[in-house]
Amino acid sequence: MTRPTTAALIVAAGQGSRMGGVPKQFLRLAEKPLIAHSYDRLAAHSAIEEVLVVIGEGQQAALQDAVGPVRSVVGGAARRDSVRAGLEALAAGKVPDRVLIHDAARPLVPSEVVDRLIAALDAHAGAVPVMAVADTLARDDTVLGETVPRDGLVRVQTPQAFRFAEILDAHRRWPSGKEATDDAQMLRRSGGIVAMVAGDPSLEKITYPADLIAAESRLAGTQRVRSATGYDVHRLVAGEKLWLGGVLIPHDKGLSGHSDADVALHAITDALLGTIAAGDIGSHFPPTDPQWRGADSSMFLRHAAKLIAAEGGTIDFVDLTLICERPKIGPYREAIRSRLADLLRLDPGQVSIKATTTERLGFTGRGEGIAAQAIATVRIP
Ligand code: MG
Repeated sequence: MTRPTTAALIVAAGQGSRMGGVPKQFLRLAEKPLIAHSYDRLAAHSAIEEVLVVIGEGQQAALQDAVGPVRSVVGGAARRDSVRAGLEALAAGKVPDRVLIHDAARPLVPSEVVDRLIAALDAHAGAVPVMAVADTLARDDTVLGETVPRDGLVRVQTPQAFRFAEILDAHRRWPSGKEATDDAQMLRRSGGIVAMVAGDPSLEKITYPADLIAAESRLAGTQRVRSATGYDVHRLVAGEKLWLGGVLIPHDKGLSGHSDADVALHAITDALLGTIAAGDIGSHFPPTDPQWRGADSSMFLRHAAKLIAAEGGTIDFVDLTLICERPKIGPYREAIRSRLADLLRLDPGQVSIKATTTERLGFTGRGEGIAAQAIATVRIP
């Protein structure tokens, strides 16, 4: 039997906000846009083949800035319209067996909850994560009304998981104009059985600014800070281009090496790989492999960043020192900084570029090569 395929749909189509103008899916939680948290976690889950984001009209550029070039579809006015648009887009392609429907407002998705949801679909058409109700519930009659027994009540979270054909059918048959609280209720109304699995406090929804602060401290409490260094040297020779930090710098010599020999990107890549103890650049892209001849080193950097994201990690800071007599780095500092920030999806304030000479001593002093050292700091759950 072939393994069932699973897609994830993230609904991130909100336009306005109670959070001060910026749609909340693009607000930053621990230096990273909200939408990027759930995207990275779902995309990194081994059972999920594809993640599709449903965005609002005109949010393509904001999504690209927040997560990078990922697949998206424009949603509708109500949440139900947005989910429908996402399901139809999936139905038009390689149809998955199962789908997880998630709200971007719940950025922290534990992989154990995803495991439980997917396992529950073996026996049921749908599954939702639930939490017990801890507080006393009472009716709001302007003044305090009767207590509502909380026995038998649960709070329902997302992601909600479904067999794809069944949830698509429930959406297609739902009468237009009729209110729907969520996808699980739509499946229930069309006769599907929805299982409950244990939810997680970290799936709490972010609605108000205070929720963002609570999520930030929840995240900080579970994350470890890791720093690692990287170091690289390449030879300066005539007739080569000089790439430094992803920027082409006019100079009478360039760096030689198997790839484009961007010594700055190599040092940062090694620092990033170091934070997750994932070896070094040579173990991921062997210099003996002809496919990396002349390669654009930004690819190596992106690969390292992707490995960190796959572990649910966040890059906090990157600091680079270039060691050479010439060229002078000062005039290119800001260009390198903004290029690195772009490549790593960071604010320029999270990237520092320094340069020094060695007082004409040694190989850098004689202009025979350029050295680079870097340190990266990340947070890993
Ligand atoms: Mg190198």
